[in-house]
Amino acid sequence: MSTSTSPASAARKEVTSFEGSLIGPEDADYEEARKVYNAMIDKRPALIARCATADDVAKAVSFARDHDLLLAVRGGGHNGAGLGTCDDGVVTDLSLLKNIAVDPEARTVRVGGGCTWGEVDAATNEHGLATPSGIISTTGVGGLTLGGGLGNLTRTCGLTIDNLLEAELVLANGERVRASADENSDLFWAIRGGGGNFGVVTSFLFRLHDVDTIIGGPTFWPVEAAADVLSAYREFLPNAPRELNAFFAFNTVPPAPPFPEEIHMRKICGTVSCYVGSEEDAAKALAPFLEALPEPLLPGTAPMPFPALQSAFDGVYPPGDQWYWRADFVKEIPDEAVEIHARFGAEMPTWKSGMHLYPIDGAAHEPGPSDTAWSYRDANWGSVMVGVDPDPANADVLRQWAVDYFDALHPHSAGGAYVNMMMDEGQERVRASYRDNYDRLAQIKSTYDPENVFRVNQNIEPKA
Ligand SMILES: Cc1cc2nc3c(=O)[nH]c(=O)nc-3n(C[C@H](O)[C@H](O)[C@H](O)COP(=O)(O)OP(=O)(O)OC[C@H]3O[C@@H](n4cnc5c(N)ncnc54)[C@H](O)[C@@H]3O)c2cc1C
Repeated sequence: MSTSTSPASAARKEVTSFEGSLIGPEDADYEEARKVYNAMIDKRPALIARCATADDVAKAVSFARDHDLLLAVRGGGHNGAGLGTCDDGVVTDLSLLKNIAVDPEARTVRVGGGCTWGEVDAATNEHGLATPSGIISTTGVGGLTLGGGLGNLTRTCGLTIDNLLEAELVLANGERVRASADENSDLFWAIRGGGGNFGVVTSFLFRLHDVDTIIGGPTFWPVEAAADVLSAYREFLPNAPRELNAFFAFNTVPPAPPFPEEIHMRKICGTVSCYVGSEEDAAKALAPFLEALPEPLLPGTAPMPFPALQSAFDGVYPPGDQWYWRADFVKEIPDEAVEIHARFGAEMPTWKSGMHLYPIDGAAHEPGPSDTAWSYRDANWGSVMVGVDPDPANADVLRQWAVDYFDALHPHSAGGAYVNMMMDEGQERVRASYRDNYDRLAQIKSTYDPENVFRVNQNIEPKA
């Protein structure tokens, strides 16, 4: 079927009993509705179907398919490459799917496909519980989970997908199905790392852990000490107890309280940690790292509610900045890599730019490389170098720094990258990121989405 009128007008006529809203370019709320987190992405969909129910999602998917329109699915809209939107097609916007139901006895939480992690953390923290997610509270549950989920609890509780028990999906043909270890288990395997390739997840069920007050926060040294700090970190962390999560970071001290004015805008390096346990045990766990280094410039670990750590960076990174990033999986950090990091860390182009090394060991190493679609269970870190700034005039500078940094380090990487931290980098890079799991993913794609309706993502092409 093709449309002679605009997709938005056609949808208003054809899509009956839609409980959410259908937004087209002529509508007053279109400009706001089309925005995604990364302001470098400036796309103009023909229709934004803001869905209020799973039935709405099925209708939006069927409308796009029947009219041969490109279909994007927007969870939290955080994707760096802008994969939650598209030009001229239909955006299935899940931002109204916000239901959250905690079951403290079963220690699970059921979450609507359009929630952000901050919303989930707030609800589960009321019961002293949490499930692992990322490091920033405004990130969407949908995209982060389907790509894997790396963050402040990875070493202790595993990836986010390791805590996914069940998902409800709308498939490319509009059918609604459940995926779990017992139901559509092939689909359940694929969505744990395979991104949004297989359907729209309208609801997730996660396992919860006893995580309430954690001992966390930053410990930073001047960037000039980067080689020593990173060398100490790479030796220390793999031997640290699993209760300790600590990602390595290059950042800049924000020019605002609570940071002392005399260190505002200083380039720094160090860790952001999250210890699940007592203050005394946290101090013991961090001791070998701290004893190997001089006094830090910014010693910041303290007891805090888990959601406080998860939202600690929110103020620095509001929606609407320019973002460009590159990523890799990392097994080892040899001396040559330490030297490259130290060089590029000292040259961060803007104060919001940075580099993070997220640990992927501990509990995340328990599943084998083919137990879920996420293949890099042998990687020890995921690196991401990210250029960020509010000013669009700096877009090229951000991109160039991230690409140069990435190119210099890539020979020391494990080959592929975490799909959630990739830009549009081509099919070979997607394959490299799934390695031996790619063929099985392509097979499952051909069962559930043979026409590749869900292709605005790090795409797995259906097997011919
Ligand atoms: C500031 C910032 C911090 C981040 N921190 C972390 C971090 O700590 N750890 C980490 O692992 N990642 C992190 N990320 C990366 C993040 O996981 C990805 O950007 C992810 O794609 C965001 O998910 P989203 O739902 O917000 O994105 P969207 O842009 O809405 O969607 C991204 C992709 O996921 C698909 N998708 C989203 N929801 C659904 C759904 N319900 N069903 C089917 N497909 C869906 C979309 O189609 C699209 O392909 C961060 C990103 C940013 C910008």
